[in-house]
Amino acid sequence: MNETIAALVDLQAIDDEISEYKHQRDELAGNLERLEQLLSRMAEELDDKRERLAEATRFYDEKRIDLEADGDRMSNAKKKLGTVTRTKEYAAMQRELDNLRKKYSDDEAELKRLVEAIEEYKVAIAAEEKKHAELREEFEREQSANADRLGELDGIIAEIDKKKIQVTARLHPKSLLPRYKRLLERREGKAVVPVVAGGCVGCRMLLPPQMYIIVQRGEKLETCPSCQRFLYYSAELAAELVSGT
Ligand SMILES: [Zn+2]
Repeated sequence: MNETIAALVDLQAIDDEISEYKHQRDELAGNLERLEQLLSRMAEELDDKRERLAEATRFYDEKRIDLEADGDRMSNAKKKLGTVTRTKEYAAMQRELDNLRKKYSDDEAELKRLVEAIEEYKVAIAAEEKKHAELREEFEREQSANADRLGELDGIIAEIDKKKIQVTARLHPKSLLPRYKRLLERREGKAVVPVVAGGCVGCRMLLPPQMYIIVQRGEKLETCPSCQRFLYYSAELAAELVSGT
């Protein structure tokens, strides 16, 4: 195999290794991002519940004032009832007092419902606050553990990347490097692919027989007519396929 083809194969191997570590890094970052989104969603829901609690509490205060006023009106009506002597007036007063009693007991029931609702909100909020705090703790633990691992991965990637300097020095002409990079970007991280059973492994297209022979000889660099990837022939790979391993 000529030196440039061998260098391209080596370069692809380096980028394969890098892409594996980048994948790990993206996965870690993705996990953290999902946790963070969950946290902020929970915080929003909590705020929502706190707002509803505040509303119920305001309503409760208003109702309590209403109830006090009902009580005052009722005791006034009772006093007045004691002073009334005429039957007709007495009956009217009695009706008024009944209405006031009914309103008082309605308001009382409403107040009781509000107290229950407020209690429920408080319990739900406390439970959610606890869950939120636990999740936040988990997030922070993960974040610091991941920060170490992310730093480590970045270090590994930078270290592997250094190997490219020597490999790219073996490429002739130098314009192959930008071509390689473009292909790597446009062809899902695979710029250099083997030819197996007469076809390009990158896009599965069968090569013209003459081109296949040239690739097999490994003396001249060829690119796939369909996907433009750099092609090489690997006797080891061919042997592996024949032996079925
Ligand atoms: Zn191809």
